[in-house]
Amino acid sequence: MAKLSVRSLAVKGQRVLLRVDFNVPTEERDGKTCITDDTRIRESLPTLKHLVAGGARVVVMAHFGRPKGAVNLKYTLRPVAEHLSTLLGKSVLFSPEVVGDVPRGLIAGMQDGDVLLLENVRFHAEEELNEAGFAGALASLGDLYVNDAFGAAHRAHASTAGIAAHVGKAAMGLLMEKELQYLQGELSEPARPFVVILGGSKVSDKIGVIKALMEKANTFLIGGAMAYTFFKAQGIPTGNSRVEADKLDLAREILALAESKGVRFLLPVDNLETQEISATAQPRSTGVHGGVKGVSEGWEAVDIGPETVALYRTEIASAKTVLWNGPLGIFELPPFAAGTRSVAEAVAASGAVTIIGGGDSVTAVKQFGLADRMSFCSTGGGASLELIEGKVLPGVAALSEA
Ligand code: ADP
Ligand code: MG
Repeated sequence: MAKLSVRSLAVKGQRVLLRVDFNVPTEERDGKTCITDDTRIRESLPTLKHLVAGGARVVVMAHFGRPKGAVNLKYTLRPVAEHLSTLLGKSVLFSPEVVGDVPRGLIAGMQDGDVLLLENVRFHAEEELNEAGFAGALASLGDLYVNDAFGAAHRAHASTAGIAAHVGKAAMGLLMEKELQYLQGELSEPARPFVVILGGSKVSDKIGVIKALMEKANTFLIGGAMAYTFFKAQGIPTGNSRVEADKLDLAREILALAESKGVRFLLPVDNLETQEISATAQPRSTGVHGGVKGVSEGWEAVDIGPETVALYRTEIASAKTVLWNGPLGIFELPPFAAGTRSVAEAVAASGAVTIIGGGDSVTAVKQFGLADRMSFCSTGGGASLELIEGKVLPGVAALSEA
C-alpha cells in the first residue's frame, strides 16, 4: 500500500477537502427527510475527528441520491449536515452551493477545527463527467484533498478522482485505508486455509471475483441463488429456483477451472425449499440421499439446508482467512434466514481473519448482531467487488504516493 495516508498530512490551519460517502437511505416522515440508517456517516467520523483534532478547516464533499446533474432539493444534503452536527458534537456549517463565491465566503470565515459541508456535488452534471474545470473549481476551495469515500472509489468523478490533479497532496482517509488494508493487504497473502463464502442473487455479478479468487482460495463454499445455476449446469434438478439460464456454460467453466487448479468448490448438499415466498412460509429440507439432492418440481430453494450448514461450519472452523460475499438464502425473511445466520455465527467464532464484503451480506451480519465480531465489514458494495477482482479503483489511483 503505497498511497499517502491522512495520518501523514500536516493539516493545522489547512483547508482540507474531504470526500466522504454520505449516500444514506432516507424516508419521508410528515414532509421531513429522515435518515433511516446513518452507518455511512458514522464510518466517516474517525477521519473527520482526526482532522478536527489536528486543527484543519474541513470542507466536506459528498453526493446524495441521483439528482442527475441538476439542482433538486429532494436530494439536498442539508439534513445530513444537521445529523452530522449531532454525531460530531459540534455545529457543522452548510454551503447551499457547491462551488463559487458562496462556499468561498463561508470557508474564508472558518476557524481551525471547523467543519463545513458542501451541497450535493451531483447537482452539477460535471461531477459525474469528471470535468476538469469543475474538479479545478472544487480544488480551489482547499489546500489538501482527502478521499474517504471508499463506496464511490470505483467511480472516476470530479470529487473522487479528477480533483486530485489540482491539489498539492491527495491522501486516503482512515476508512479508505482500512478498506484497502483488508480487501487488498490481507487478501494478497492470506493466512491459510483461505475459505471464500459466496452467495447472493447472481453468478453473473461475481464472475470476476470468482476468477480472481480462484488464484488464491483453498475452498469455496457456495450458497444463495447462485448455487442453483451451478446445480442446473450439472444436471441437478432446480425446481422453480432462481437460475441464470444463460450462464450455464460459464458455471461449467468455473467448475472445471476449480478442478484444474485443485481448488475445492463446494455446493450445497441439501437445501430448504418452499412453494411460498413469505414471512410465514414453512420451508422443508430437501434432504441428502447419497450426494446432492436437487430441488423438487414446483418448489423453490430459498436457503441452504442443515447438512450443508454443518459441512460449511466445519470448513469455516479450520479456516485462517474467511472472505464472505453474498447471503446464503433469502435472509430478509425469517423462515429463510437460518443458513445465513448459522454460517455468520461460525464465521464470527472462527478466530480467523474475517472479511465481509457486499451490501446485503453486511446488512445480514448486522441484523444478526455479529458485525463487531468480524475483523472487517466493508462499506463498499461495487467498490469492494472491483477491488477484490484486482481492478484499479480510480479514486485510489488518483491519490498521491506515500
Ligand atoms: P451482496 O449485496 O452481499 O453482494 P447480492 O446482492 O449478490 O449480495 O445478493 C443478495 C440477495 O440475494 C438477497 O436479497 C437475498 O435475498 C438473495 N438471495 C439469496 N439466496 C437466494 C435464493 N436462494 N433465492 C433467491 N434469492 C436469494
Ligand atoms: Mg446486493
